[in-house]
Amino acid sequence: MLKTSVAIDSKLPWVGTTIFTVMSKLAADCGAINLSQGFPDFQADPALFEATLRAMRQGRNQYPPMAGMPELRTAIADKVEALYGARYDAEQEITVTAGATQAIFTAIAAFVRGGDEVIVFEPVYDSYVPAIETVGGTAVYAQLKFPAYKPDWNQVRSLVTPRTRMIIINSPHNPTGSVLDAGDLAALADLTRDTDILLLSDEVYEHIVFDGVRHISLASHPELAARSLVVSSFGKTYHITGWKIGYVIGAAELMSEFRKVHQFNVFTVNTPCQLGIADYMRLPSRHLGLAAFYQQKRDYFREQLKGSRFELLPCCGTYFQLARYAGISELPDLEFARWMTREAGVAVIPVSVFHHDGCDDRVVRFCFAKQETTLAAAGERLRRI
Ligand code: PMP
Ligand code: GLN
Repeated sequence: MLKTSVAIDSKLPWVGTTIFTVMSKLAADCGAINLSQGFPDFQADPALFEATLRAMRQGRNQYPPMAGMPELRTAIADKVEALYGARYDAEQEITVTAGATQAIFTAIAAFVRGGDEVIVFEPVYDSYVPAIETVGGTAVYAQLKFPAYKPDWNQVRSLVTPRTRMIIINSPHNPTGSVLDAGDLAALADLTRDTDILLLSDEVYEHIVFDGVRHISLASHPELAARSLVVSSFGKTYHITGWKIGYVIGAAELMSEFRKVHQFNVFTVNTPCQLGIADYMRLPSRHLGLAAFYQQKRDYFREQLKGSRFELLPCCGTYFQLARYAGISELPDLEFARWMTREAGVAVIPVSVFHHDGCDDRVVRFCFAKQETTLAAAGERLRRI
């Protein structure tokens, strides 16, 4: 191992390896069923692979345009219009990204300056704050409080200062599964009206909402859409988290700034997968069927946990189920998650890692994007705890 002679003044001194990497590795080391990191353990549709292979064989293997293949941008524009009633211009208002993570990082890098404040909601998805701090911004924390995990807009209002540059929202919300409603959007519109606050809306679980609830995209709210970058990911929608392809949509002037950074960040995203997805997207049932598909898995998993000592919290969207374990153990959640992986053979994510102050409500997150056989095997182990 080489030892560097350079003194390092870390930009992110408090950041270690992500909990997803840590828990997935521990699960593999212990041979545990991995319900921690969020990814499906089943195959995506072969039709998607065929469309991608077709593009490769047709020689579509060189650099695509910086903003993404026109075919894919048009397919995204069509989908967004059909679902949210707003027509984004494929040429100027849509950019294909290397997953939602890159879209989020690039949006923050493009708009947040040193000393700017960005409001995030805790529990907060783990990539937002490191991105804010890397560019010299400061994260300001609003709370989604256990057990309902709903925003308190009065609290958010009290956090706004002249330095507030951006508010990041995430609905359906990872890790809690809560979903913003029309009232939340109205409150957000009131709060930001006559300000220069940008909204970054992480909607990667847009198609995974349950019990007849509708996902309300910021794209569907003209006033909010005008100050928003809306991000989504094909990884979630088509069961291809490893492909790392997503997109961002927003007003042309915002997108122009986004692309100034994007072009020197990744420049662009691989051609044949973009073309494969564009072809695959033409059948809307492929994304519209996702809610029913995952609702069945959610219900199946919740059924598996009947008779266990876990207390299940509501799950309105995403493919994550939260559970309280106060009836089982008094361990802090990180230790409990490690214990579960090693001793009970089921890996989970402790929710305190999504809080900057380690706030621990003794809640863990299960991913139910798994085959029924996996969920049944996990259920058997979980009922024994
Ligand atoms: N945002 C949220 C809320 C997520 O859960 C994830 C990943 N699961 C991402 C962003 C990142 O998506 P991608 O894998 O497309 O980068
Ligand atoms: N978003 C996924 C989750 O919440 C993990 C993504 C990652 O591993 N960085 O589990």
